This record gives sequence, structure tokens and C-alpha cells, in this order.
Amino acid sequence: MQIEELQCPTDEIAAYVDGELDAALEMRMDLHFASCRACSIELNHQKEFLRNLDISLGHERELELPADFAKQVVVNAESTVSGLRRPSERFNALFICAGLALFVLFAMGAEAGSLLDKAAEALGQTAAIGGIFGHLVYSLFIGLAIVVRSIAGQAQIGVLAVGAMALMFAGFSLYISRRVLRTLKT
Ligand SMILES: [Zn+2]
Repeated sequence: MQIEELQCPTDEIAAYVDGELDAALEMRMDLHFASCRACSIELNHQKEFLRNLDISLGHERELELPADFAKQVVVNAESTVSGLRRPSERFNALFICAGLALFVLFAMGAEAGSLLDKAAEALGQTAAIGGIFGHLVYSLFIGLAIVVRSIAGQAQIGVLAVGAMALMFAGFSLYISRRVLRTLKT
């Protein structure tokens, strides 16, 4: 069988390195590489490229994620959430109480004059009507605490949602406190 000389098979070199050529063509390539310096250099480049590729892929294999990576992430996230739940609940409760106090003070202060004077006066009035207003505020906070607890149980709902709830309750308590003050004046 006559083996004819190849015309620089540049396009086939990659296939040759990958071992994708049939035996006859591979043999003709071998012959060509033996006699053609340009193609043997190209062959060496391709082999070196493949070797470097193998090395970098091998390094990536070393960084391969453990089989239970997703499970570990979930477990970590769960422990993080349960770890944060208490402080965030405490923060939400503080945030809401502060917001409520501010709105109640504002509602009472808006009725007349200095906010601080009015706040002191409001404290006196609250003490004066004792049970009614105090119990109302207490009930509000208890209801709020229940809502906050159930919201905090839903991991996805953040401080923004709780803040919106706080504003709703603050608006409600503003309305209530205004009504109470108006009732007191008449
Ligand atoms: Zn050649």
C-alpha cells in the first residue's frame, strides 16, 4: 500500500492528539511529523496545551464541592437563621415599641404645644384613666407581639415587612390615642 505524503495537515493535528483519527491517517500523520518541522512544532504546542488543560482541570477537581454540599449549605443557613432569630426578634420588638411610642407621643403632642410637656401630661392622663387606656395599649402590644412572632417565624420576611406592620399599628394607636384624648376633653 502506497503511503502518499500529506500536505501539512494542520486541521487534523488536534484530532490526531485526541486520538480521533483512523489508524491509516494516523500513520500518514506520523510520517509527516517526522519530515515536517512546522507540523511537529504545532503538534508539540497542541500536546502542551492539552497537558496544561489537564493540569488546570485537575486543580479544579481538587476544589470539587463535597457531595452533600447543598445539604451543608441548608444546614448552615438553618443554624444561622435560628441563631439570628432571637436577636432579630428583640430588634423588631424594640423597633416597633420605639415607633409606637414615637407615634403616640406625636399624636398627643400634636394636640397642643410642646411635645415633651404634652408627653408628660399624657403620662398623667394615662395614669388618670388607669385601666382603660393602659389596658388598650397593653392589648395592642400583646397582639403586636403575637404578629411579630409569627412573622419572625417566616424566615424570608425581613425588617421591612415588620416595619410596615409597625407603621400600621402605629397609625392605629395614633388614631386610638387621639380618640382617647378627645374623649377625655369632652
Ligand atoms: Zn507539515
